[in-house]
Amino acid sequence: MKKTTAIFLTLLFASATFAQTQPVLIPQSVYLPKDSALKNTLIASVNGFLAQTQQPNNQNTYVRPEDLLETSVLLDEIKDISGSRKFNDTNFYKGYLTNAVKLNDSTFLVQLAYIGITDGAPLVRANFTILAKKKGDKFYFNSPLKENTRGWKSELVGATTLHYKTSINNANAKDYFKMVAKYDEKLKAPNTPTEFYCCDNLHEVLQLLGVDYKSDYNGSVHNTLSGKENNTCLIVNGTFTPDFTDIDPHDTWHARLHNVVSTSIINRPVDEGTAYLYGGSWGLTWQQILDKFKAYAAANPKADWLVLYNESKNFDEKAKFPLNADFAINALLAKKIEQEKGFPAVIELLSCGKKQKNNENYFAALEHLTGISKATFNSNVWDLIKAN
Ligand SMILES: [Zn+2]
Repeated sequence: MKKTTAIFLTLLFASATFAQTQPVLIPQSVYLPKDSALKNTLIASVNGFLAQTQQPNNQNTYVRPEDLLETSVLLDEIKDISGSRKFNDTNFYKGYLTNAVKLNDSTFLVQLAYIGITDGAPLVRANFTILAKKKGDKFYFNSPLKENTRGWKSELVGATTLHYKTSINNANAKDYFKMVAKYDEKLKAPNTPTEFYCCDNLHEVLQLLGVDYKSDYNGSVHNTLSGKENNTCLIVNGTFTPDFTDIDPHDTWHARLHNVVSTSIINRPVDEGTAYLYGGSWGLTWQQILDKFKAYAAANPKADWLVLYNESKNFDEKAKFPLNADFAINALLAKKIEQEKGFPAVIELLSCGKKQKNNENYFAALEHLTGISKATFNSNVWDLIKAN
């Protein structure tokens, strides 16, 4: 027993040491405060802040409570920034302090770069711009989101404060939040106060939050970053424009669902199945997807749905975008489970764990909830197709 504990502790210590954040490197060319006490405080604070990025964001003692929400989203982007899976090295990208500009007596603008070297050539992972404010004997750090949007307008829609540059399309915004409210009601999601920033694209989202560049998002036009602290949500939206056009109900469903069921446990084929059912897909409504699925079933009367489920068969091969058999089957099953047992039972199936190779966890949860086993899966799916 003791030996096991000792080995465990040694392993824990070893991995903790390995993953530890290294102090930032400071190139000689970087201009730093002449006052050496101030300079040392700033550098020690930067290192203290970065060292605590691995723990929960609300426990970072270098972030003031009033800055936590937006800084939490930025911290999520900084977490594990030094690691590279490709190079199997948790400290591949070294952190550099590249700039420290004194904005006023107590505030510095700090820029950091994370760079790795391979075959003698630099690989940039990320650049960040963070504000550092001196209070007492240390600096506190925050995302520059509020400073970057100081001239923006804001408007309250329900429990959501919309922030935007010049204008938004009010009618479209109201329709969008109506859809969100409908989804949240089904999900029994609490009506959490939300700060919603309307950006043009992901690039603007990143810039506002203090992420000048991150290689993970290379080439990505539209995406949204979000976080939640102290019962307030922050959504910095770059998925659709401030006119609230091009909104995809399928993606909106995913986003709302992931607020309730963590992506670390969600089963993707069920996640997609519910998105088909409640939001359609690729601009098709659920009814249109169902018609295509039934047409495929009619043309393949010998289809074995267990086999097609496990191979995630594309049943709309001639179309531009795929439609998958496992997703459509889960839409039918979610509908049945919701009708018979209510939506919490659907959440149970969604929460059966990440997709496994032969979907063992999924079939165990399905049998527990519905009595449908692997052996009876094919006939039950045929019955569902005929009944819908
Ligand atoms: Zn999807």
